[in-house]
Amino acid sequence: MGTNRTDSQVKFCLYCTKDFGDGSREHFVPQALGVSVPTNPFLITNVCDRCNKLLGKFVDGPFSRNFLIQNHRANLSRRFVNLSVGEAMPLSYMGNINKSIEYVGHDCDFYIGPTGDAVYHFHLPYPELHFGGGPESVPFTFPSNTFDPGFVMLVVRATNPIWNKTIKNSVKNQFIQETKIYVVNRIVTPESKLLAMPVELEDLKNKIVNLGGKHEVQTTVNLDFDAREIAKMALGFGYLVMGDAFARSKDAQTIRDLLWAKSPEEKTKTIVRGAGVFSNQDASKDPVGWDSGHVFLLKDVGEALALHVNLFGQISATIQISSDQSLWMGKILSEGTIYILAPGLRKSVGPISVGDYLVVKGGHARSSEAFACLLDEANASPIQPPFDLPNEIS
Ligand SMILES: [Zn+2]
Repeated sequence: MGTNRTDSQVKFCLYCTKDFGDGSREHFVPQALGVSVPTNPFLITNVCDRCNKLLGKFVDGPFSRNFLIQNHRANLSRRFVNLSVGEAMPLSYMGNINKSIEYVGHDCDFYIGPTGDAVYHFHLPYPELHFGGGPESVPFTFPSNTFDPGFVMLVVRATNPIWNKTIKNSVKNQFIQETKIYVVNRIVTPESKLLAMPVELEDLKNKIVNLGGKHEVQTTVNLDFDAREIAKMALGFGYLVMGDAFARSKDAQTIRDLLWAKSPEEKTKTIVRGAGVFSNQDASKDPVGWDSGHVFLLKDVGEALALHVNLFGQISATIQISSDQSLWMGKILSEGTIYILAPGLRKSVGPISVGDYLVVKGGHARSSEAFACLLDEANASPIQPPFDLPNEIS
């Protein structure tokens, strides 16, 4: 019985089961949830290059740029952002506002920046998509020559200059390099690499100013965005805990079927218990949730091993990973195993037991020193300066 997992044991891809030569590094918890954490334990290497690229584009992409995820990300990063280095924050995607602003032949996507800044992205319509994904999912991951990079019109909200660098970097970070960024209501310096409003866009600028921030927003919420992502995480966590034997199991194949299902019909044929319903309701009351990051719980629920995911302390989902107890016996801590990811602090903790997690989180003991330190750090994070400077002499 091989219990030690080595990469040489697995000669096939965890996601597609095909043999491959050199595996590529794969973060099975997506970028949007903070994989830049240096101690990120959610890294595997037995994934083929093709899957890594395809799933990055069609699973992680739509997930990361989904309305719900983007807004939770923006709120979390606002708490922990490092303004002194102008750290970039994700913009909140609000939706398409073609109904409110017309610019010949162009679509307009509307985002909100770090301090409530209005960000209008005008671009030619994107190519038709397959494999799910709303309009918000396109630009990041498509080769830049296959779509129009468009241009952005930025209306800065904050008057406190301490936010300037972060606003600028956040907007730059959201779009590809070729996208021109025009600033509507500030003077731009050449060093900023931002552009002043050109004369030919004066009419469009006036339209935006006249709107006064009132838009009719149309958001395409792709209900598929989460089922595939949680299937991917389930395969990753299953492999992390149970190794090769899980990767070759029937349960892993069932999850794979969900991951690759092409149509809603095909998806409903795949019966995975609890799959992919990220619920925004009452998830904040979920005892597993933590408002400074993400919590992943692997738990023996009787005849099955389940993965429970709580993101941002706000949304949660549960999926069955395995029904073969022999695979996880002795590999799960008593009451369940927990991993914690704190993207704002660039740290992760785990595996720790559910008992330790709840005791430390409740402030009753420091039975997991690592998690206790993480909590201390999160609680000590400074309050951000105001968006506006006081308008008075004192
Ligand atoms: Zn593959």
